[in-house]
Amino acid sequence: MWKGFRKAVTFSYDDGVESDRKLLDILNRYHLKGTFNLNAGLLGSPDSWDCKGFQVARLPLDNLGALYQGHEIAVHGLLHLHPTELSREAWAQEIGEDKKRLEALFGAEMAGMAYAYGQYDDQVVEVVKETGLRYARTVQSTHGFAPQANLLTFHPTCHHNDPQVFELIERFLSCEADEPQLFYLWGHSYELDADQNWDRFERICSMLAGRDDVFYGTNREVLLGE
Ligand SMILES: [Zn+2]
Repeated sequence: MWKGFRKAVTFSYDDGVESDRKLLDILNRYHLKGTFNLNAGLLGSPDSWDCKGFQVARLPLDNLGALYQGHEIAVHGLLHLHPTELSREAWAQEIGEDKKRLEALFGAEMAGMAYAYGQYDDQVVEVVKETGLRYARTVQSTHGFAPQANLLTFHPTCHHNDPQVFELIERFLSCEADEPQLFYLWGHSYELDADQNWDRFERICSMLAGRDDVFYGTNREVLLGE
């Protein structure tokens, strides 16, 4: 697992917005890898919204391959609809069409996704499986690093704003467990603009980066081992 390493770190960021540019600059500078969950039907659209006084804007469609190079692209729903509020057919279309368009746009097979609004139920999960996606992230923090059996409701370690994030990083870096340990962080890059706490993200990255006993990979690499 993980090229012989017992520990791995990965990041998961949603929605495909302008703030991803700065987030990618930081990840790349620290040689960290992540997965970006995108809504193909909203990229390049004038769709924008206010988050605590910060105007969030979607990324344009051009040059996305170059921008996200070295990272993984994953499904997040064509139009960012609420998964549990859709019929089975509408949900299948929402992720099936997103998968198809992202695969055409990036020339790569989509292996996973993140649930919009963190919403899922049994039917939602069943359709994810039928669509051929092999992992799907929720928004429920585990505050842990242990392997999880069900990758279709994969729970992250924590969000970047979690009050315990630094404590968890220290615990992760110093632990000597027998089983593989994964530190999985998630969030939205625009929150860092809205909260004006990019220094927090920078500190998270500087603490996690550069360890010779840690594998740094995308979600696909750390969850599926490919
Ligand atoms: Zn989202």
